[in-house]
Amino acid sequence: MSGPVLELAGVGKHYLGGPPWARHRIQALLPLSLQLGMGEMLAVVGESGSGKTTLARLCLGLTKPSEGLLAFSGAPVLGQSRKLRGKLAAVLQNPSQSLNPSMRIGRSIAEPMYLAGMSQQADRRARVLELLDHVGLPRDFADRFPQELSGGQRQRVTIARALATRPKLIVFDEAVSALDVSVQAQVLNLIIDLQREIGFAGLFITHDLAVARYVADRVLVLRHGAVEALLPAHSLYEASPVDYVRKLQVSSGLL
Ligand code: ADP
Ligand code: MG
Repeated sequence: MSGPVLELAGVGKHYLGGPPWARHRIQALLPLSLQLGMGEMLAVVGESGSGKTTLARLCLGLTKPSEGLLAFSGAPVLGQSRKLRGKLAAVLQNPSQSLNPSMRIGRSIAEPMYLAGMSQQADRRARVLELLDHVGLPRDFADRFPQELSGGQRQRVTIARALATRPKLIVFDEAVSALDVSVQAQVLNLIIDLQREIGFAGLFITHDLAVARYVADRVLVLRHGAVEALLPAHSLYEASPVDYVRKLQVSSGLL
């Protein structure tokens, strides 16, 4: 069990766009290969439309690659598979959209365990309280509704929910982008601490190179669906030899 958690071999994706009488190919992601190890955090950076969410959806098994092979813990991923249930989790940009407003927080956090057929109700309740501790929220939040929480607190809830089934991989797609800067820092630090503590592999998608450098071990830079660079986060403390990366370093205040 020491191989990569996630492996992409020549994985690419195109969509068909335009009206039915003038269909054309939109290459959302050019074939790309990479491996993600246990406990590793890979940031994916790029401007809007560069293919970040497409990559996230491919890794989560939510969309099929147009070419190439994806493997999770050494086993090929073939679309949305039951076998992956509970092993992958996602934290998305807008916590108000990803939490059901009519569901109490505790039930939202427990839902993935229920869907994955994990544990009895009483055990799930105990796990919910433990998860609330983990993400720094009071236990009595379990009985509240999402509208009673701030944006940062709601994002902590979606993180607790993502952790519920002890997944091996968590995909964060612009998970802090909608939060105020001070709250962003708190949530980023929480993600970093949890990863150190629990050791899941993470794919952290952001349009902000400074955020990427802060949270990740390695950074993948995408532009128009193509890989511009795949580099260690610490290398971003110096001016990159890649023009486009250097431009991003300047525009995100790193240089
Ligand atoms: P990002 O998350 O970096 O903003 P996306 O992965 O969402 O980028 O999109 C990459 C490209 O693929 C964009 O040009 C987008 O318009 C296109 N695209 C994404 N999803 C679809 C879809 N379902 N159908 C057609 N085109 C899509
Ligand atoms: Mg996106």
